[in-house]
Amino acid sequence: MGIELTNVNKVYKSGEVEVHALRNASLHIPDNKIVAILGPSGSGKSTLLNVIGGIDRHDSGTISVGDYMLDEMKDKQVTEYRRHALGFIFQQYNLIPTLTVSENVEVGSQLSKNPLDQKDILEKVGMWDKKDKFPFQLSGGEQQRVAIARALVKNPAYLLCDEPTGALDEETGKKILTLLKYVNETYGTTVCIITHNNGIGEMAHTVIRMKSGEIMDNYFNEQPLAPE
Ligand code: ADP
Ligand code: ADP
Repeated sequence: MGIELTNVNKVYKSGEVEVHALRNASLHIPDNKIVAILGPSGSGKSTLLNVIGGIDRHDSGTISVGDYMLDEMKDKQVTEYRRHALGFIFQQYNLIPTLTVSENVEVGSQLSKNPLDQKDILEKVGMWDKKDKFPFQLSGGEQQRVAIARALVKNPAYLLCDEPTGALDEETGKKILTLLKYVNETYGTTVCIITHNNGIGEMAHTVIRMKSGEIMDNYFNEQPLAPE
């Protein structure tokens, strides 16, 4: 089980230019882990997360996530997979500006067959008292908490985070990481985090290092540290 990639390739073509964004990427991530994906800009981190998340399709190789065999799935099944098995968190929070906090979370809830209790989730991320606010009335850290609540309320087995703290100051970023660690411990969610911050590697159970589309290293921390 878990996430398994075998010899995955992804080439982007723009005109005459080909970019090999993933080269024979292979890895195994057991369930219930925090995974840090590290590497310089352009090394393929987002592409890796996007092919795991069914946002982008790989060209060759095999990807399985839990029971889902991504290379065999039609687009419609990929949509089902994204809705039910996954939650996404981005650097830009992507909240709907015209909806309140609780309405944004409701959007996540409606996508799921077995959503978690909205009040419970908003309490856990510390945003229940601001449930009637609109995104523009919140700080960046608060907006990211709401985005996490929206992803979590679906009760996904996997949370895929692309630079979740990239737009936040260091202290707020640490609080978001503490929250993601809590999510992993409380719900058993596998949390994959793309980051430029080596410190996040220390709190992860598994660290993946990428360079020029290749997975250079995939190692397991014996004793992950708290993000403080
Ligand atoms: P980061 O380095 O933080 O991952 P990027 O700016 O490289 O962010 O990429 C952000 C998004 O834009 C990614 O999802 C990626 O797939 C897409 N992207 C990156 N480079 C290109 C490109 N040359 N053309 C089109 N889309 C791109
Ligand atoms: P990272 O997340 O590590 O910054 P990306 O996965 O975004 O890296 O990008 C890996 C490489 O693929 C980069 O050279 C980027 O410009 C290229 N790339 C990513 N997405 C696209 C795209 N949609 N079209 C063209 N090139 C892309």
